[in-house]
Amino acid sequence: MPRKPPPLETLRCIAEEIPTPFHLYDAEGIRENVRELQRAFAWNPGFTEYFAVKATPNPSILRLLKELGCGVDCASYTELLLAHEVGFRGDEIMFSSNATPAEDFLLARELDAIINLDDISHIDFLAEHGGIPERVSLRYNPGGDFRLGTRVMGNPAEAKFGLTPEQMPVAIRRLQELGVEEFGLHSFLASNTTDADYYPTIARMLFELAADLHRDCGAEFFLVNLSGGIGIPYEPDQPRADLAYIGREVERAYAETIVPAGMDPLSVVTELGRFITGPNGWLVATAVHEKDTHKHYLGLDASASNLMRPSMYGAYHHITVAGKEDAPAERVYDVTGALCENNDKFAIDRALPEIEIGDLVVLHDSGAHGHSMGHNYNGKLRSAEVLLEPDGCFRLIRRAETPRDYFATVAGIDVPEELGAPEHDPLQRA
Ligand SMILES: *Cc1c(COP(=O)(O)O)cnc(C)c1O
Repeated sequence: MPRKPPPLETLRCIAEEIPTPFHLYDAEGIRENVRELQRAFAWNPGFTEYFAVKATPNPSILRLLKELGCGVDCASYTELLLAHEVGFRGDEIMFSSNATPAEDFLLARELDAIINLDDISHIDFLAEHGGIPERVSLRYNPGGDFRLGTRVMGNPAEAKFGLTPEQMPVAIRRLQELGVEEFGLHSFLASNTTDADYYPTIARMLFELAADLHRDCGAEFFLVNLSGGIGIPYEPDQPRADLAYIGREVERAYAETIVPAGMDPLSVVTELGRFITGPNGWLVATAVHEKDTHKHYLGLDASASNLMRPSMYGAYHHITVAGKEDAPAERVYDVTGALCENNDKFAIDRALPEIEIGDLVVLHDSGAHGHSMGHNYNGKLRSAEVLLEPDGCFRLIRRAETPRDYFATVAGIDVPEELGAPEHDPLQRA
């Protein structure tokens, strides 16, 4: 079941100061999810959650996660810069990139981040661009289908990520020649799954692989990285992933593989994004237009450029109307944005309460891969982000873009000051 958003009065109060659309994040909900994850893995002294920055790349959110002892998982130059600016240092930063430019490796080495190599050819490339550190992690791709029991959960053979089983020992030996003393292993085989057997299965696979490489190549390991992938209940009847069970089952796999191989203690780490922030964010929009043609449309002041997942994957996002949470859902709508693309629909044939123009419409579970996947198609500007604390205080943690931001990178046009001048810039005014 998607989490309940704050009540109408709170949303109205925020919307009076910060015009819709905006993404609203619940600070305490984020903290609770981190603590729950840390409790589930408390059996492993080295456990660290490396929050996947791409899910919610906002410094205020990253700072909040840092206070709880999280690290960050970055995949690009800019994400590394962001991590550094927020204050993450050395092995608090995981660098899990692919098709990596030289300058990204150079910066990752300068920051002394943990480097998680995606490809065997990156060994010599990194040796040339930044140099090989004493500890290196490798991203593993077992190929074939990935199954949990009889269910096919993913198709690693078609995934661009990671090294093949045959490449792993070759890579380890090459890195040993180059002076690497300790290794990490990483794999990401299923996205957005609430199936509690996903982490235990991938953990057992990586633990067994580590034990094999320890035996065959004499490799020492400093971490196993279960990466991201734990899903959230986007749909009303979907259960939440059972983290306590997941933690126990990963511990059991550890006890049956790592301990007998004499490799204990070994840090188990995660790179969750969606699980941490996803359910704790809502895209708050205003109903601006109603249209009766072949279907019944409700137009919002938010578009797919603010939340891509429905248009991109046909993903379900729960929708409620502020103040009408308990009203009967007796009208069927297509809920749309304003892009000149027919897939700009947040919901198709969705039964909702009768909506009036001006109502605040709340799109749930926008906290991860929401704002961050946004874009400027059709000249649409990226929205604000707002952080809500449990005492009811809220803080603008990213202002909405202005037309000046949109024009900032193009040549050949002078944009008048007033289109985004400081008096229109709430962050500068504050
Ligand atoms: C996207 C990503 C994650 C986070 O995935 P979620 O589904 O948000 O948990 C973690 N690690 C890597 C390498 C990723 O690319």
